[in-house]
This record gives sequence, C-alpha cells and structure tokens, in this order.
Amino acid sequence: MKKYDAVVIGAGNGGLVAAIRLLQGGAKTLVVEKHNLPGGFATSFRRGRFEFEASLHELNDFGTADNCGDVRTLFNELGVTDKIEWLQIPEAYRVISREENIDATMPFGVQAFIDKMESYVPGSRPSMEKFFALAEEIRSAQAYTNAQNGKVDSKYMVANYGNYVRCGSYSVNEVLDAIKMPKKAKDILNAYWCYLGAHCDDLSFIHYASMVIRYITRGAAMPKMRSHEISLALTERIRELGGEVWFNTEAVKILTDKDGAVSGVVLDDGRTIETRHVIANCAPHVVYGKMMDNVSEEIIKATNARKFAGRGFTMFLGLNKSADELGIENHNYFLYDTMDTAKQYDIMKKIATNEAQATVCLNRAYPECSPEGTCMMYFTTLYMDDDWANVKPEDYFKVKDMVAEKMIARFEKDTGSKIRDSIEEISVATPMTYARYCGHPQGDIYGYESQYWDGLTPRLLMMAEDHKTKGLRFAGGYSMRLSGYSSAYFSGDITGRQTVGDIKREG
Ligand SMILES: Cc1cc2nc3c(=O)[nH]c(=O)nc-3n(C[C@H](O)[C@H](O)[C@H](O)COP(=O)(O)OP(=O)(O)OC[C@H]3O[C@@H](n4cnc5c(N)ncnc54)[C@H](O)[C@@H]3O)c2cc1C
Repeated sequence: MKKYDAVVIGAGNGGLVAAIRLLQGGAKTLVVEKHNLPGGFATSFRRGRFEFEASLHELNDFGTADNCGDVRTLFNELGVTDKIEWLQIPEAYRVISREENIDATMPFGVQAFIDKMESYVPGSRPSMEKFFALAEEIRSAQAYTNAQNGKVDSKYMVANYGNYVRCGSYSVNEVLDAIKMPKKAKDILNAYWCYLGAHCDDLSFIHYASMVIRYITRGAAMPKMRSHEISLALTERIRELGGEVWFNTEAVKILTDKDGAVSGVVLDDGRTIETRHVIANCAPHVVYGKMMDNVSEEIIKATNARKFAGRGFTMFLGLNKSADELGIENHNYFLYDTMDTAKQYDIMKKIATNEAQATVCLNRAYPECSPEGTCMMYFTTLYMDDDWANVKPEDYFKVKDMVAEKMIARFEKDTGSKIRDSIEEISVATPMTYARYCGHPQGDIYGYESQYWDGLTPRLLMMAEDHKTKGLRFAGGYSMRLSGYSSAYFSGDITGRQTVGDIKREG
C-alpha cells in the first residue's frame, strides 16, 4: 500500500475542508468515506419529482462578495466559492410561540432587526443596540483567537476584548438580563437557540451571540443545488490539488505504535494504510470506543464527560401546490410551546411531548427548486434525550407516523397554512436513520452539547488538551468549533492547518 502524510476519515463538511487544507500545505492526503457520496449530512436525495435538501436550513456567515462572511473568506481561500451557485435567504426567521402568544418575523440587517424588534417590543432599542455592540466585539475576539490557532495571549485579550472576557462564563439569559433586555425582546431574540441545541440558561452567551451576529449582519445563504453542491465542489477541489478520495471505504481501526502515536489506518476490506496523521471526521466516542485499542483512562473519562446533543427527526414533504397557493409565507419557521428555553428543552426530551419544529420552505429562497406549481418543505425537531431507544422495534413505524402527523398538525394550526391535502411525497428520517447514515451515536445530529463547561470558548482554549494521541485530531460537529455547517467547516480549517504544522515540525 502507498503511504500518506495524512488520512482523513469521513468526507463530511469538516473532513473535506481539512483535506483541502492538508493538500494546500503540501501533505499527501487520502480521504476515506464509507458512503458512495461525499458530504455526510450535507447532501440531497430524490423522491418522485422532488430533490430534497437533507439538512441545511441556511448557511451562516457566508455573506455576499461585498459583505464577505468568514465562511466565504474560507471558501475563497480553499478555491471553491465560484464552483457553487449561491442564493440568499430572504429573511432571518419567523418565530411562533404558544405560551407567550408570539408571532414575529425578523429581518436580516442589524438596523432592520433592531427597528423590527422595537415595533414588536417598544422600548427594546437600547438593550438591542447593546446586544449587537457586544456581539460585534465577540466576533472580533474570535477572529483573533482563530488566527492564533489556540495559542491566545490572555493579556492581549483583556486589553482589547474586555467585554468578551467578562461575558466568558455567563449564559445567554444572564447577559441579556444584565443588559436589561425586556422579556419579550429576549424571547424573540432567543429563537435561534434550537440551532445550537442547548437552552439559554446553560448556553454560553458568547457562543449564541457569535452565531446571531453572523446571521444578522451577513444574512444566510444556500447553494442552488442543495448542500450536495458544496460537498461536490469540495471533493472536486481535493482531486484538483492531487488528493485522493475513496468512497465505499470505511476505516475500521486506527493503529498506534509502541509510543502510542498514530501509525496507520485499517480499512473494512482488511487493507492497512500507513500514515502518521489521522483527522477523524467522526465522533470521539466512536473513535475511542470502537476504532482504537489501549485508550487511556484519561481519554475515556474526558470523552464520556461530554453529553450528546439533540437527536434528529426530519420530515420532508413534496407538495403539489405552490407556496403561494398554500399560504406558506416564510422560508424559515421556529415553532415552540414556550420561549422559556429550559422548559422547552425538557419538553423536547420525550417523543410524547415534543412538538417543537424548525421548518423550511426552500421555494421562498429559490422558487424554482421544485417543479412549477409545487413546493418542498422540511420539518426538523431535536430530542434532548435518547427516548427513541425506548421505542420497541414493532412500534417503530407507528411512532414515526405519529410524530410526522403531529408535525403537520402543529404547522397547520400555528401558521394557518393547510398542507395536508397537498402532500405528494413524504419521507421521514428518525434518530435511527441518522445513526445509520453517518454513524452518530443515538442519532445525534449536533455533536456534543454546548454546555457551560464545554461550550465554544472552553473548547477553543482547551484545543491543545484535546490533542491527546500523537497524530490524531478531530474535525466536524464533535470538535472544537461545535456543530453546524459553518462550525464544521471552521474546525476542518483549523485541524487541517494544525496537522500541516505537525507534519512540518516532524520534518
Ligand atoms: C436535519 C438536519 C438539519 C440541520 N440543519 C442545519 C442548518 O440549518 N445549519 C447548520 O449549520 N447545521 C445544520 N445541521 C447540522 C450539520 O449538518 C452538521 O453539524 C454538519 O454537517 C456536521 O458535519 P461533520 O463534518 O461533523 O460531518 P458529518 O455530516 O457527520 O459526516 C461525517 C462523515 O464521515 C463518514 N464516516 C464516519 N465514520 C466513518 C468511517 N469509520 N470511515 C469512513 N467514513 C466515515 C460518514 O459517512 C459521513 O459522511 C443539520 C443537521 C441535520 C441532520
């Protein structure tokens, strides 16, 4: 077998970007992917006349050529931006919450967002301005920490990003209360919480604010041919740079030498690939639990300390009427029982009680994404506990149908759009589907939960501590930037560059 400077296990968002960074740094690189196509969750599939987006609701931090987001800057550096046709998402979100009787549609653009909030919540303007000023400082501080590859000068941070450091250990709700944001404004602003999958009493303010500022200042984007278009562009770029991507190839073992450093990867057909560097685009639970021998007690404890984030359930609908005919007005809906996010989080632990949903009608961003006179929707919810493990095999289809039924009923009741009679295609993915498709434990689609002790900042500051096996690093939703498209791309960027540094240092 050939030798490679680095092997990337998994061609998901994190793995693909890491591979390009390795190749740009001169490393001979192989990507192995167990599926027959790239992208992991970033893919599409067809049912009848419809090509459904498998996961992406909207890409954060991409921006436009004139208002370039960090993901666009990264894609420019990788050489893939122009391989993809981009669309802009029309508005930030519509949030409907039953308990507070909220129905608010929020725009992109800081000024427009603050103005709209003022119209819903008179008197909210000063606290909203404070929020965005703070969020902007957080974004700048993060740009600095990223550029340092984790080697942050704390004195420089305190001198230049004092508010960032001050907010560091506080939750979203603690900071919003400290800046005296009225409750209703907080409720509307916190609508994005389900994208990070942790409730706002626990979720780090820094993490939340850094996501919101990126959405609101730069809008959100979507590739025309679904996220699969990005995955294909990244794969093409790897090949242009001389890298190899092997599909239908599962890595089953990561080998180490007598000093515990990575020495190779065993594939499912029994072949061994020699390499000193592995970037794993999969969960550390899987890597340490299944793919490596002699894992230290310390690594096992550190890995098990982390909590799996939301387990996914998605219903995809192809409808035989247009969005206008059905009265579907928005691209992006958040439907909640309550804006008390800790309470909502608890409700979302059980199949019997969870009715929350983040729902998209792609035709609102791209009217031609489905045949004329039709539209497509996808409805996603998260389970904050492993309740699907309690479903007996014989009840699986019944429970799946019951959840799908509830999703349709909830959407119709909360928005007034009648969709049920226009369903032409329906497809449902449960946590079991996600566990099987990407190999994620419990069907978790959001990596490890962003808990106060294990949020964005601690993970960035502890990057070196997480690098416990020489030659092994992680990229993707389970790694230092946490989950989500942009985060997975950034983690691939950091990990790829760090591995190039490791290779160069070793000569
Ligand atoms: C329904 C849904 C909606 C979502 N909506 C959004 C959204 O709107 N915005 C957003 O930012 N994020 C969203 N996400 C989250 C986002 O999709 C993920 O955070 C991101 O795609 C994770 O990327 P990753 O790099 O971790 O790779 P993954 O997608 O987890 O892919 C990992 C890849 O590795 C492969 N692999 C694993 N083990 C092996 C092995 N041993 N050998 C070979 N290959 C292996 C898998 O087959 C897979 O291709 C959503 C996710 C879902 C499921």
